Amino acid sequence: MLQETVDAHVHLSERRDDTLIRFARMNGLRYTLDELLGTMRRHKIARGLLLSPPLKRAVPLPNEEIIGLCRRSGGMLAPVITVEPTAKEVKAAVKLGEENRREVKAFKIRLGYVKASAESPVYDRLYHYAESAKLPVLFHTGDTAFSNGDLARSHPLTLDGLANKREELTMILCHFGNPWFMDVAELIYKHPNVYTDISGLTTPSAYAEKYAKWLARKISEAIYYAGGAERVLFGTDYPVTKHSETLALVSRLDIDERDKEKILSRNAKRVFRL
Ligand SMILES: [Zn+2]
Repeated sequence: MLQETVDAHVHLSERRDDTLIRFARMNGLRYTLDELLGTMRRHKIARGLLLSPPLKRAVPLPNEEIIGLCRRSGGMLAPVITVEPTAKEVKAAVKLGEENRREVKAFKIRLGYVKASAESPVYDRLYHYAESAKLPVLFHTGDTAFSNGDLARSHPLTLDGLANKREELTMILCHFGNPWFMDVAELIYKHPNVYTDISGLTTPSAYAEKYAKWLARKISEAIYYAGGAERVLFGTDYPVTKHSETLALVSRLDIDERDKEKILSRNAKRVFRL
């Protein structure tokens, strides 16, 4: 039986100061809850994990608004709590996770956008809670959406030390470390607790056709190196990348059909316990 697809990386807000509106416009998207749910149904995407988009003034949308949007989605969207690097924010995020235990599926750290690295002690309390509650932590890795991002902190290899120290922590490296795909291949090969997603890798460009082929080849090669697709997750990064484009990327991968099914559905169901 064909499994239902899970989108492990979705953004949405109803705020005019949402900085992802720029990407929605580039992709010709309305970027509304109705559009998102309609598009998911059309592509047979049964569940999506909803993450805060960045607002102007460099702050993420409050997590309470993410939980609210998920409640209006009729069970199609589940919240991921974004955690900023202050003791107060970490404490609040853990509390929100506790209070909404049945709904919250993961936490997210915005490496490259915040002034802390993954191993900063400020996150210790969060990692401890995530391990005990068996909730994965998503890390932004690789290219940043704005020119003032901090690549030294978002480089995927900065996660190796944390994965060494915390074998009980499930870590998801977003965007396959773009463009450091082979670094991520090594991390998912080396660490049983490290996963990655293929979200947000395509945006409109003059070389879109050639880039799409190049990208499919790179991701396929990373999967050969890792020896399988057990820890690769489908994600769109809506509205940064359109659903149709990320699905096309999966179909272009030169891997077994069974592995494509793992990427689209099985891996996410296992890691997020959906
Ligand atoms: Zn994202």
